[in-house]
Amino acid sequence: MKKTSEETSPAIDTRIVLNGLRKGAASGATFQSINPMTGAAVGTYTECSAEVVAEAVETARQAFDAKTWSAMPIGGRCQVVSKWAELLEDAVDELARLDMMEMGMPISQAKGDVTETAGYMRALCALAQSLTTEAGVTAPGSLCVNIRQPIGVVAAIAPWNFPLNQAAVKILPPLIMGNSVVLKPSEIAPASALRLADLGMDAGLPPGVLSVITGQGHTTGAALTQQQVDKITFTGSTKTGAAIQASATQSGRPLPLAMELGGKSPQIVGQSFGEVSDIAGTIANNVFWNAGQVCTAGSLLIVHEDHADALCSAIADASVAFSPADPSDPSTATGPIATRLQYDRVVAHMRAAEASGASVICGGLEATQALPGLFAAPTAYANLPGDAPLLSAEVFGPVLAIAPFKTKEEALALAVRCGYGLTATVWTKDMSEGHFFAHALPGATVTINGHAGPLPDFSGALGFEPSGRSGFGEDFGLPGLKQYTKLKLAIFNTAQ
Ligand code: NDP
Repeated sequence: MKKTSEETSPAIDTRIVLNGLRKGAASGATFQSINPMTGAAVGTYTECSAEVVAEAVETARQAFDAKTWSAMPIGGRCQVVSKWAELLEDAVDELARLDMMEMGMPISQAKGDVTETAGYMRALCALAQSLTTEAGVTAPGSLCVNIRQPIGVVAAIAPWNFPLNQAAVKILPPLIMGNSVVLKPSEIAPASALRLADLGMDAGLPPGVLSVITGQGHTTGAALTQQQVDKITFTGSTKTGAAIQASATQSGRPLPLAMELGGKSPQIVGQSFGEVSDIAGTIANNVFWNAGQVCTAGSLLIVHEDHADALCSAIADASVAFSPADPSDPSTATGPIATRLQYDRVVAHMRAAEASGASVICGGLEATQALPGLFAAPTAYANLPGDAPLLSAEVFGPVLAIAPFKTKEEALALAVRCGYGLTATVWTKDMSEGHFFAHALPGATVTINGHAGPLPDFSGALGFEPSGRSGFGEDFGLPGLKQYTKLKLAIFNTAQ
């Protein structure tokens, strides 16, 4: 593979963040992150041992008990976070380059992610300040007040698909509400999460309030989930989420969990929706964006049989815009798959679909294998057998399964059988059909006509909660902030 100019840039700081300092490993195991575009090593990181993990949790506990952060008025914490957002924007080029190098995210998209993350931080601050003014209840002779308090030490585990943004989404709500956090980013792309913590400390986070430890999931990640923390917030696969839940249950003590897991998000195209040309581009974007490595990827297209042929051909045309290219080129919309392992999984899904007799609408195995390195062609299959795994399995790559339907009940049955409940999109001009699906489809979000995924921006007060195999726990907006507080009712009997 060709070398990009990005590889010649200065070495990145891979030391962990512990008790307010960057700290190198005295000894022990290490691992490397790999640039998926070039195959070159990007950073060598410490595989944090259970002892280091315990030390990070202990410093987080001490920081919490010291009350410098946990008892700081919300306005003070938000001042720090607002400054932090500013520092993020100042470092946009550096942060975007880190995600581009380690995960293969196109540089323009990675810059957008930094800006969006800074906006999310500011929006959370605005929301958090309204939480502290929750109404009390008064009665003659007594005054009742709701007090929200931070819960303590939160263990946060993040995935690799949007390395900076997903780390921020995990740590900001608990931090803003006064908790201490120990974060383990994915071993695939830890650099931007470490820099995120640096910038937080520069903005005024007290030492120990945020530590970032590196390591693999089954070692360092598992060790973190076995610590005496007050909540675990996890984003990742359904399989890992279930393993964490099982180990938390075995610990025998109540431990709140928040789980944002995988998805197989349906996009349902009803009988009346307007023109195929109006929606094909958005449908393609919903599944092919970020090379399909998106939890909310709309990877199951359920289309009324009257429109199936026209839509298939329009999606094949629209897919061209998502052809992979060098992520360091600012005009690139889609980069490589992030790792060899993930690429092999994507290819295995293509192979199985084609072996089952599916029709290739665009892309496919041959097209993918003709591309260099870890590039995967945006791919869509129709005529899949009813029991094809592709109709219900999450691929986490640019692969769309297309299934026709006659009645809306049939469409619903196809949409729900995977057991995931993260996101759904419905394309219809018939609002009674829209209401039917909005209520019947499981999912954290159901979008009628538009982009799949969470709120159009991150600034809303509204939140959502995944269901089924996609996890549980309210997230985003005010509901997401409340998840990191304890609600107390203080009763003042003024007549005494
Ligand atoms: P994984 O479940 O493999 O990993 C997620 C995180 O968990 C990583 O930091 C990983 O570390 C860590 N981990 C792995 N095993 C353990 C363990 N036994 N104990 C504790 N931590 C562990 O998912 P991916 O990183 O591959 O991410 C892709 C998945 O995440 C997809 O299923 C996707 O749908 C889901 N996702 C969900 C989102 C949502 O909001 N619902 C958003 C983004 C992704 P390491 O990487 O070092 O192994």
